[in-house]
Amino acid sequence: MLIRKAFKFEMRPNGEQQHKINQFCGCSRFVFNKALDCKSAWLGGYLLAVNPKNTSRTCPCCGHIAKENRQTQANFECVECGYTENADVVGAMNVLRAGHAQFACEVNLIRGQQQEPTEVS
Ligand SMILES: [Zn+2]
Repeated sequence: MLIRKAFKFEMRPNGEQQHKINQFCGCSRFVFNKALDCKSAWLGGYLLAVNPKNTSRTCPCCGHIAKENRQTQANFECVECGYTENADVVGAMNVLRAGHAQFACEVNLIRGQQQEPTEVS
């Protein structure tokens, strides 16, 4: 019987290598955002950049923000209300919510009104 084992290797870059990795990731993110901006302008869309802070730690159900909400890289479980979901889905939901709030503020500024964003019930 053939037994196959999977080995997990851990990469431990030194300071210079980590700098190069960060530089590469930054360039990739810039190119992706630029391409997304061009595509949305070409197709008549609108691109908003939102602050990603706490988007993976915020519960979309009750709004509780805690590092403990995200026990693993893949799973999200709110310590306050018990809401569970895939962590990437939760991050996407929170980014979408932040984008809606930011867009609402910009539209109100264009119209000459200033209103704080409100939570969607
Ligand atoms: Zn919650």
